[in-house]
Amino acid sequence: MNPKIRHSLFFRFFLTLLALGIFPMGIASLFFVATYQSRIRAVLAPRDATALIETISIQFILIFLFVFIIASFAAIMVTRYITRPLSVLTEAVKRIGAGNFKVHITVSRKDEVGVLGTFFNEMAERIQEAKDRQEEISKLKSEFISIAAHQLRTPLSIQKWVYQGIKDGDFGKITKNQREAVEKGTIANESMIRLVHNLLDAARIEEGKFGYKFEEIDIIIFTKKIVDEKMILAKAKNITLTLGKVSDDPIILNADPDRLSIAIGNITENAIRYTAAGGTVSVRLEADSVSVVLKISDTGIGISKEDQPRMFTRFYRGSNVMHMETEGTGLGLFITKNIITAHGGEISFHSEEGKGTTFLIRIPRASTLKSPVNPPTEPFVAAL
Ligand code: ATP
Ligand code: MG
Repeated sequence: MNPKIRHSLFFRFFLTLLALGIFPMGIASLFFVATYQSRIRAVLAPRDATALIETISIQFILIFLFVFIIASFAAIMVTRYITRPLSVLTEAVKRIGAGNFKVHITVSRKDEVGVLGTFFNEMAERIQEAKDRQEEISKLKSEFISIAAHQLRTPLSIQKWVYQGIKDGDFGKITKNQREAVEKGTIANESMIRLVHNLLDAARIEEGKFGYKFEEIDIIIFTKKIVDEKMILAKAKNITLTLGKVSDDPIILNADPDRLSIAIGNITENAIRYTAAGGTVSVRLEADSVSVVLKISDTGIGISKEDQPRMFTRFYRGSNVMHMETEGTGLGLFITKNIITAHGGEISFHSEEGKGTTFLIRIPRASTLKSPVNPPTEPFVAAL
């Protein structure tokens, strides 16, 4: 928000002070006209009286002009003295509002405005300190998550390899019960691997180390591949997954295929996971000359009105999914939104609880990597 000044304090002060300076002169002139002029004419000869009144009038006009100039000058000085610190403080507050706390006001005045300036500097310093502390904690937290997740990767891969070996009979024949137990172990292992990947991706996003490699892709072939991959999950859950009619000509998009595949995969997988057996998930792809739009709709459990505003927040999971899908990190949408934003695109959804959800992803066809918008950081130093 950038409110405009409509009734300038400067002009109000200026006009008031000017009026205060000129007003007494006007009263004096009136007094003169009303009282002394008739007396002068009564005691002096007409010619002398006229000459004297003329001289006095000229003197009055000169004094009036003099007072006008002095009053204007004084009014400008006083007004500037009062309103200038307000302008400086307004600019400083604007910087703080934009997230730049490196603000310092040089205070040389010892009056109320000087005290306000001193308190203002203290406040800016405290906010900057709190921000630095928070950034440090956040960095440590991301580093800790990164290290812990990295450490978990190797044992989880070994576990996966062992389970696969047992299922393939590499360690001898297994019974039906043993196979069932190993299947359960595999599911748990896959969910842990997913968690570790998500944690690593989220930590990289926060550290600004989530790299992108843009190249030209045909979004039709790309989407078909993702839908094919998710078909196994859909079939296992008895859900009809369809890809709507797409154009015969390729639709070329500049994107990072690995990252975009995570994003679209997440949304498609969510649609399948949060839809009960027998439901449908449809993926539609539309394109115009400027952008590509992906609509992923499901007939699932939907997202409640209360949950909707927080869906893209890290670790947030809807209140209605806990009993339906116990597995889930709540990181998928956070990562997805970051990927789409980095492609210069937008992601939104509309949902009705109990009826279904539609996610909309729009990506510009000529998209290039968009860095997150950082607040201006150059320090602001000004005197009151
Ligand atoms: P994971 O990080 O493993 O994907 P998750 O699916 O719980 O776990 P997100 O993908 O970030 O995490 O989704 C967050 C929440 O959004 C979900 O827990 C669910 O409550 C809600 N949600 C997302 N997509 C849908 C959908 N299509 N229908 C209903 N709820 C959804
Ligand atoms: Mg998910």
